[in-house]
Amino acid sequence: MTNFYYTCSECGRKYNITPDIMVCPECSKMQEPDKPLRGILEVILRGKTDKKLSLTGFLPVDNKYFPNIPVGNTPLWKPAILDKELGFPNLFIKDDTRNLTGSLKDRASYLVAAFAKREGIREIVVASTGNAASSMAGVGAAAGLNITIFLPESAPRAKMVQSLQYGARVIMVAGNYDRAFDLSLEFSRKSKNVLSRNTAYNPLTIEGKKTVSLEIYQTLKRSPDFVFVPTGDGVILGGVYKGFRDLQKLGFIETIPTIIAVQAEGSDAICKAFQRGEFIELDAHTVADSISVGIPRNGYYALKQLKQYNGKCLTVSDEEILIAQKELSSKAGLFTEPAAAASYAGFLNIRAEIPNDATVVLLATGNGLKDIDSAIKGIEFPKKAISSLGEL
Ligand SMILES: *Cc1c(COP(=O)(O)O)cnc(C)c1O
Repeated sequence: MTNFYYTCSECGRKYNITPDIMVCPECSKMQEPDKPLRGILEVILRGKTDKKLSLTGFLPVDNKYFPNIPVGNTPLWKPAILDKELGFPNLFIKDDTRNLTGSLKDRASYLVAAFAKREGIREIVVASTGNAASSMAGVGAAAGLNITIFLPESAPRAKMVQSLQYGARVIMVAGNYDRAFDLSLEFSRKSKNVLSRNTAYNPLTIEGKKTVSLEIYQTLKRSPDFVFVPTGDGVILGGVYKGFRDLQKLGFIETIPTIIAVQAEGSDAICKAFQRGEFIELDAHTVADSISVGIPRNGYYALKQLKQYNGKCLTVSDEEILIAQKELSSKAGLFTEPAAAASYAGFLNIRAEIPNDATVVLLATGNGLKDIDSAIKGIEFPKKAISSLGEL
């Protein structure tokens, strides 16, 4: 049996897991404008699970509250041609493009939806660059919840269309994701019985994403050596660490893998802070919209984990991202969105430093059809339509 509570990642105070608390009431008083969130809460797992590793025993909400939908349990597979070409026989892709709404975000939405059900909450609000929104909209639809979304105007159309198809109320924000984040928080504070699913702010977003690590372990039956994680707000990164740390705590694994955060050159707040020790707001610009973040909400906590477990932070250029995206599509049959291809681009950049027999996992975090405007940049369209083969 396991049970759960929150602790503040900064001061260590303990709290019960209830909807009234999102960030540590004490440490969040130190919140500065335009900086990562202070007082991020971490779910602490106490107790034991049986050695068979039942995933539900790892989560703070009882199984019966989860909607019956295909989230998680995504395939971990070897891209055979790439493995051979690159000389890494143990290179794997954790294919989270296969989730219900096409991104890894479903892991967080799934836990948040279950928590809302348990607490009798009917409405969830979220700000997003696109995937968290479409994810919450889809998972929320299946769970019978009302979803309100704050999206920056610039969000890729497919993600907006997805959200509307799932029946969410979409509020378009004149401004960037950071503005949408602030407006959505204001909205959830002013509304009654509404739960925020803002990434990092709701601690269950980090906790939900940890299932990706549990599954990697479940498939490999051991810890991989390296995991490449496309990184914007640093919540997937935090979740990946949390999963391996819980596995370590319960005695399933001995060592935490080397986690490599990959950021876009034009959106590298975490990598910069990793070098300089402080966060400076930047005007994020990258073709990879899902990792385009000026203020990484989980910045402090992500950085702490990277330092504690000897992780690395790398940047890749937009050009490298688009090349990696095309290569994954054309040599592995995996069409990802640019953010998801960043993990592969990062691996290509530092593969000379990685032993060839290492077990390497690339997180493929989102489906390519979610953002065809970016994908178009990496390909050439047929120039004209023909009516006979003679015109070829
Ligand atoms: C959200 C997202 C990321 C980055 O996750 P963070 O928690 O913001 O670091 C990467 N790839 C895709 C496809 C995403 O949707």
